[in-house]
Amino acid sequence: MTNQSELPGFALQLPPFDGETLFSWCSRYHRMTANGRDGATCLQLFGDRRIGTAHDFPARLDALVSRSDGTLGDAHSLIREHTILPFYLPFRCLRLAEESERAMRGTNIGGLKYRLGLQTSGLGSAHPLKACPTCIEADQELHGWAYWHRDHQLPGAWVCNLHQTPLLISPCKLDQRARFAWTLPRATDLSVPAGLPMGIASHTYAHWLMKMASMAAELLRLGYSTLEDPVRLASALRQRLFERNFASPSGRIKWRDLEASLDFIAKRQLALPEMQHVADRELLKAQLTRALSGRSVTHPLRWMIWCSNWFDDLRDLKAAYDRADKHQSTTDTLPDHEVVSHGPEAWQTTVLDQVRTEAVSMTRGAKLAGVSYNTFAAWACALGIEAARRPQKVNADVRQCISIRLLAGEDKTNLASEFRLSMETLTRILRTTPGLREARNRSRFERRRTAARKEWHELLASDPCLTTKAARSIAPATFTWLYRNDREWLKSSSHALKTSVSTNHAQQKMKKKVERRSTALRQLLDLST
Ligand SMILES: [Zn+2]
Repeated sequence: MTNQSELPGFALQLPPFDGETLFSWCSRYHRMTANGRDGATCLQLFGDRRIGTAHDFPARLDALVSRSDGTLGDAHSLIREHTILPFYLPFRCLRLAEESERAMRGTNIGGLKYRLGLQTSGLGSAHPLKACPTCIEADQELHGWAYWHRDHQLPGAWVCNLHQTPLLISPCKLDQRARFAWTLPRATDLSVPAGLPMGIASHTYAHWLMKMASMAAELLRLGYSTLEDPVRLASALRQRLFERNFASPSGRIKWRDLEASLDFIAKRQLALPEMQHVADRELLKAQLTRALSGRSVTHPLRWMIWCSNWFDDLRDLKAAYDRADKHQSTTDTLPDHEVVSHGPEAWQTTVLDQVRTEAVSMTRGAKLAGVSYNTFAAWACALGIEAARRPQKVNADVRQCISIRLLAGEDKTNLASEFRLSMETLTRILRTTPGLREARNRSRFERRRTAARKEWHELLASDPCLTTKAARSIAPATFTWLYRNDREWLKSSSHALKTSVSTNHAQQKMKKKVERRSTALRQLLDLST
């Protein structure tokens, strides 16, 4: 970056400040050139009357670079150092990162917010302009300008870590009025975000809010795609939950033990305006299950929540990610879906053949193959070899009865307690009876589908004005399950639903949000008194 910006017809001393957003620099340029009309400045800088004024993801950066003759740096460094895009990219693949930069360099960002997953994240895609009143004063004193700090604009950042003061929001860019305006922070324009009891939230969760703000800033500086593998992330998270005694050594999550933690996290979420409406244990559980099963989580804020509660900081998460075995199984239904990750080698297969011809027993075969009985039995089962039962407490009648009930999809824990057997015994029956596990999975799938369809149908029938989007926010887990497993049915049921007019939709959505928020706030107030 040089000290001189030369633009067509202008030569001015206006280097961007460290940590200043590009929008802020353009707004200062606008002020300095005294252009009057916002469109005139935009035309000068970006070669278009409007595109370029976006405060979060501006487009036409190639045009800006060329019109400024490169004095502001190249497009990549402008994006990396002066926009919030890098916040969204550490968890995403390199291809998306390249596409995103290309979109901002091109003539229009098009569906960038959609591709980044913001519009489907459930956390909104708006970025209200935020500022710290103390920074405004200090910057004016030091630089003669108050400007927008990039760290303050990030989702999850609601405290200025330099002054440890709550960030306030500007009304600009929140409505259509100032959509294309160039603007700079003024203390008198700022206000506390609606619905946020700043006194309570900042006091109760000050330390945590500071942690969130530093984590958001750290994300900006982390390389693109540094944490892109959701399977490895899941593995790191599961390991950490195990270390905190929230998971068994096999990786099974102890949901009951986690409940108190999830409640606590939900209360913390109330201090984040973008997350107040999802401050709910069940919603958190659904999100955590998603993360733990190695599915990608689109909004970094969701990972920041897990990270802020169970990791020291982002570096700690990164270290755990680097240690995590990317091939590790991440299914949350272990050991039900447990697979023997390394199958029998050629010489072990010959032992299995001997068992098939009953030349040797299963026990002897396991010994010959040099693996445990259970592993050997699982191999045999995968090859369709019926394991001869070794003597055990479970007699044939009990075994048959349990098999039938497992097939019907009954819960293993309940069966173990009813028959006074260990969970291992039940898992063994499941693993060593050919075809049982697959049949049980099918049966459980059918039951889950019936329940999900019923719930979705009842939900839609309960309110004729309910749009699919609104229904989805009420029953996200059901929607997600149907979307993944029964998409055609979901589509046809949604078509059957009359799409309500947009005003009704907006009203419904707002009503639910307000209801959820007020319940949550009531809980918070109860907590703090
Ligand atoms: Zn400050």
